[in-house]
Amino acid sequence: MTGRVVGRARAAGVLGALLAVLVALPVRPAEAQRRFTTTHRCSEAQRAAGCLIVLGSGTPVPDPARAGAAYAFVYGARTFLFDAGAGVMRRAAEAGLPIDGFTGVYLTHLHSDHTLGLPDVLLTSWVMGRRTPMPVVGPPGTQALVGHLFAAWAEDVTVRTEGLERGQPGGQRADVREVTGGVVYDSAGVRITAIRVPHGNWTHAFAWRIDTPGRRVLLSGDTAPSDALAEAARDADVLVHETYPAARVTVEDRPGGELWPRYLATFHASDEEVGALARRAGVRRLVLSHIVRMGGSDAELLAGVRRGGYAGPVAVAQDLDVY
Ligand SMILES: [Zn+2]
Ligand SMILES: [Zn+2]
Repeated sequence: MTGRVVGRARAAGVLGALLAVLVALPVRPAEAQRRFTTTHRCSEAQRAAGCLIVLGSGTPVPDPARAGAAYAFVYGARTFLFDAGAGVMRRAAEAGLPIDGFTGVYLTHLHSDHTLGLPDVLLTSWVMGRRTPMPVVGPPGTQALVGHLFAAWAEDVTVRTEGLERGQPGGQRADVREVTGGVVYDSAGVRITAIRVPHGNWTHAFAWRIDTPGRRVLLSGDTAPSDALAEAARDADVLVHETYPAARVTVEDRPGGELWPRYLATFHASDEEVGALARRAGVRRLVLSHIVRMGGSDAELLAGVRRGGYAGPVAVAQDLDVY
């Protein structure tokens, strides 16, 4: 190797290090994915099989340790986002996921704790370099939600595109598709299916089923016990289910607090109900997430699941867990 080539290689090494630090680069290939860290939460082997990352295991409670509801499923180079709760982009960055756009965003329903991070997903990915519309799939009402979000940030978009930032015009756009159930994505080894579930007063709420050649993953979204979900979850490798401890249910001392048990029964699924569902579906692994705790411990929840009849492995999700 000549001195000149070595010098060039060293310069390239230094430049590479700089590039790794300076995430916000102005020039890059159209299809490259920009990441905040190159350390991916999923190993290459996990990504090849299909890898689920818990980005937000929280509820509406602004617990600093638990971001709002959000999960990423990674298959090869594709990253699918399910729900977009508060904090989603920070967690995605932490997990080594692309910060300039996902393959698609799939919403379970439009409760704020599942959608507060949607403007973050759409606008931040654009500022980080996204140029093409981001597919957003959700229930009826998703188009209106996204339209209102862009209306709310209209001046931001104008300043970023027409001002000195020279943002890519139109790069913030979303390609919204409203669905009422069924297969919404089926391409190159990944099939994503919306399962209609009952969630109290919501007309439309989904669980999401993700199938790859080697794995089946179910995300319950928010739901009361659902036969359709139990059916769809048959032999799933992983079922992530929301829950609350049945033993802690009581009327609350606040206006409307007498309705709390009825709210829980019609909007959500207790630990015992989730245990019964997981047993019936024969899932290989149950992950509890999005837990309305009411003071209940992990041990109480696990006992509830066992009372429900499920004997398989159970985990309580933490942010950035991988399944
Ligand atoms: Zn929720
Ligand atoms: Zn909800």
